[in-house]
This record gives sequence, C-alpha cells and structure tokens, in this order.
Amino acid sequence: MKDCLFCNIINKTVPAKIVFENDKVLAFEDIEPQAPVHVLIIPKKHIMSINDIEFEDKEVCGEILLAAKKIAIDLKIKDSGYRTIFNTNEDGGQTVFHIHMHLLGGRKLKWPPG
Ligand code: AMP
Ligand code: ZN
Repeated sequence: MKDCLFCNIINKTVPAKIVFENDKVLAFEDIEPQAPVHVLIIPKKHIMSINDIEFEDKEVCGEILLAAKKIAIDLKIKDSGYRTIFNTNEDGGQTVFHIHMHLLGGRKLKWPPG
C-alpha cells in the first residue's frame, strides 16, 4: 500500500531500527518508546486491523507471536516479563492502520492501561 507508513517501512523507503525480519513479518523499534523495550511487530501483508484478519491470515498471526517470543529472548526480557498489545480503532487508540503488535518491557508496567 503506497500511502501506508508501515508498508513503506517494509519496503525500506521509510527508515526504521529493525530488530527482526523474516519472509512474513518485520519488527522495529517504536519511534516514541513507552518503555525501555518498545517494538512493533507487523505482517508484511497489509492488513488494517484485527477486524480485517481473514482465515488465510492465521499463519502470519502465529508468526507475529513467534517473533515476539524471539525478540523477548534476544532483548533479555523473557524472564522479567513484557506486554503484547494490538490497539484497534478509535477506542483502542489505533493511529496506524497497518496491524501491529506492540511489545513492551524493560520496566514494571501498570495495569489496567489508561
Ligand atoms: P497505535 O497507536 O497502536 O496505532 O501505534 C502506532 C505506533 O506507531 C505508535 O506507538 C507510534 O509511536 C509508532 N510510530 C509511528 N510512526 C512511526 C515510525 N515512523 N517508526 C516507528 N514507529 C512509529
Ligand atoms: Zn500497510
């Protein structure tokens, strides 16, 4: 998608600090980190939100979770803990409409979120 910020990060026309990549997913540091570790994990396929996931996308959804596990190990937050979040639409606080999982850690996170 030409006008999608995260598609442009995937095709490398917008720079990002990439922490993990395979043929299905890309993970990069959030530009406005809310914790010492704040990574966004996205499918390379343009899917707008959880509302737009199709049955055929179930494999890439699993790839996102497996990437989270690997990044948590690599960034040494596996045992201290971390949070994974998908924001959806206005009430969820979604601002970029290419589905992404936030991976946050490196500090004690509050619950419930605001
Ligand atoms: P959300 O509000 O759930 O849609 O999350 C969008 C996230 O994308 C926010 O945490 C932003 O800080 C982050 N973000 C926006 N632009 C960029 C960018 N160019 N590179 C990395 N992260 C970005
Ligand atoms: Zn996109």
